[in-house]
Amino acid sequence: MRKPSPPIPRIALTGGIGSGKSTVAGLFAALGVPVIDTDVISRQVVQPGSPLLAQIRERFGSGVVSAGGQLDRRALRNLIFTDAAARADLDALMHPAIRAELARQSAAAGGRYQLLVIPLLVESGMTGLAQRVLVVDCAPEEQLRRVRVRDGVTLEQARAVLAAQASREARLSAADDIITNTGEIQDLRTQVEALHLRYRALSPNP
Ligand code: ATP
Repeated sequence: MRKPSPPIPRIALTGGIGSGKSTVAGLFAALGVPVIDTDVISRQVVQPGSPLLAQIRERFGSGVVSAGGQLDRRALRNLIFTDAAARADLDALMHPAIRAELARQSAAAGGRYQLLVIPLLVESGMTGLAQRVLVVDCAPEEQLRRVRVRDGVTLEQARAVLAAQASREARLSAADDIITNTGEIQDLRTQVEALHLRYRALSPNP
């Protein structure tokens, strides 16, 4: 009988809003690394007609589903924003579905190692899914500036989102590796290439 192949190392990539996660993930992807994004998965698992969307509708009411059968994310966000119990209920529905889909996509993706993009890694306690935690770090002032430019929101709106996330300190204390995103994209590329060599060396088939 063939021995089961050893598991592929998985690296969890996280960081606050606007820290540069997508930019960093794109640089790893350009090196041929399979990237699995839990933001994308969180939309896939609530497709119209999915069992999870039906459960969310049952818990939160028909106001969170649009006429076309899509999840109305804004309505749902408004419901949970000031209601910790509602947020906990939503997490209890979403997290198992996200974990299951993540496991499915990870098993199918192959590669020498994989990058799992998990923006709310620290908040959701999903740290155990990966062998290493990679944090993209930058100063909160820089996050605020990028989010305002990219999303066209006010300083107050950007601050409110930051305040609802884990602190920079909490994130850094969960980190095995850190990418500092305070300079040019070329600086990011240099850091990604160095990590890529180290992560490849973790692979059972380097
Ligand atoms: P979110 O949490 O909102 O998904 P994110 O952490 O994925 O954000 P990105 O989308 O990668 O962050 O970056 C936020 C914005 O800042 C983007 O418009 C991106 O192009 C820009 N940006 C990120 N890093 C740099 C950099 N080093 N130089 C210039 N622009 C940057």
